[in-house]
Amino acid sequence: MPNMSLTKTPAEEQAPLVRNQNFLEVSLGYTPEQAIEEARRCLNCKNKPCVAGCPVNIHIPEFIAKVAEGDFKAAYEIISDTNALPCVSGRVCPQENQCEERCVRGIKGEAVAIGRLERFVADWYLKNISAKPEKPQSNGIKVAVVGSGPAGLTCASDLAKRGYEVTIFEAFHTAGGVLVYGIPEFRLPKAIVQSEVDKLKALGVDLQLDVVVGRTVTIDELMEDGYKAVFVGSGAGLPMFMGIEGESLAGVYSANEYLTRVNLMKAYLPDHDTPLKRSRAVAVVGGGNVAMDAARCAKRMGAEKVYLLYRRDEEEMPARREEVNHAKEEEIDFRLLCNPVRILGDERGKVCQIECVRMRLQAPDESGRRAPKEVVGSNFFLPVDAVIMALGTSPNPLIRSTTPGLETNRKGCLVVNEDTMKTTRDGIYAGGDAVTGAATVILAMGAGKKAAQAMDEYLSQK
Ligand code: FAD
Ligand code: SF4
Ligand code: SF4
Repeated sequence: MPNMSLTKTPAEEQAPLVRNQNFLEVSLGYTPEQAIEEARRCLNCKNKPCVAGCPVNIHIPEFIAKVAEGDFKAAYEIISDTNALPCVSGRVCPQENQCEERCVRGIKGEAVAIGRLERFVADWYLKNISAKPEKPQSNGIKVAVVGSGPAGLTCASDLAKRGYEVTIFEAFHTAGGVLVYGIPEFRLPKAIVQSEVDKLKALGVDLQLDVVVGRTVTIDELMEDGYKAVFVGSGAGLPMFMGIEGESLAGVYSANEYLTRVNLMKAYLPDHDTPLKRSRAVAVVGGGNVAMDAARCAKRMGAEKVYLLYRRDEEEMPARREEVNHAKEEEIDFRLLCNPVRILGDERGKVCQIECVRMRLQAPDESGRRAPKEVVGSNFFLPVDAVIMALGTSPNPLIRSTTPGLETNRKGCLVVNEDTMKTTRDGIYAGGDAVTGAATVILAMGAGKKAAQAMDEYLSQK
């Protein structure tokens, strides 16, 4: 008999005013009993609408049925059949717009907590089963992957499982892409990303860190060196700025730089000597997930006041609802319908104030979006000693500019065939944020998977 509760089984969380002082994970996840209780809410629908909402097509009802039986190992095996990073996707996937949005239990009540169940199963496996995957028999064909974010890791994993000799070239000194340098520890512990990277190494994938493709070595040089195909998963790490006065003052950061200092260089650990000034009052500009992460990190780094400045209202915020609620609970001061116009510095050239103007939303345009308009004469000042710009990112032009024949669109994203992820150059494939611009982890993983399949077909015909 299914559990007909209309609401999800809750998972425990750290209390807001405790967690905004530490970097430990916010959600504590399900216990085995809670996982079984939640799994019993699944109706095991014949037409499986939830699966169509998952970009990597996890066999959702099948894995949930195994959780309901208490067979967590079998549940893991079903998930890992199609998903190389379940510990990650179970935590950061925007489930509410994907698998859970299609769940029939969501018609009357809340959807089955598919993401929480996936996280539980992946964590259980990590904790209880020490077996690493075995290295498959090599087919002797060398393939290069540029970038070790979710797109690159997934593509590398799928190709290694098919016997290819895969080398990942990563610009940073740590593998994981945004999973390690962007998404904070309190949402995605770095040890978990490392465990997923270790599984890849067990499959025989070679990781070459501190290699900037396009500078240390070009894609053409890799091909001359015997790599028969290349996957480009170099992300979209180039930050945007507003172009307002004062953006070059000391104390103004892009969100990428700020989060990299906090996450990758571990500025939050007392024994790490990272160059990040402790700020008392911080303004974060933007309304997406990156802005929420930056604001919540600034609070945890000891700021007494953190303002979130967004030029539209809350309904229009692109950030996940859960992240917005978490940020508010953690005492981030939301200043909506508010746009910065100038950053002011003191006599030493350091940020001391931000000047803002109030906005109002106009009637919806053809796209249905309500454009914000300045309210003349509504300027006001906030005293801050740091400003973090979280306005979006675009792909770095380095690879495109050093690889003849690679076409990009007007946003600088690589042009690919959407069915195969093949670029405009033979043997070169691409996926993730480098193709879509800033998007999501699971879309990047889906693209890496699709490319691996097409690369396998291409290489087996050669
Ligand atoms: P990336 O993760 O960016 O990885 C690209 C890698 O390529 C990097 O490691 C980079 O160093 C490397 N690289 C770049 N150029 C070169 C080069 N020339 N040579 C060698 N290596 C190179 N998505 C979600 O689904 N849920 C979330 O909650 C979420 N939160 C986010 C929070 C933040 C702060 C940010 C910045 C993004 C967030 N995203 C989230 C978006 C998500 O992380 C990205 O869409 C995803 O990581 C894209 O994966 P990718 O593999 O394409 O690129
Ligand atoms: Fe849902 Fe994401 Fe898991 Fe797919 S990977 S089932 S979309 S949480
Ligand atoms: Fe279970 Fe919901 Fe999928 Fe139906 S749609 S199988 S209830 S998760």
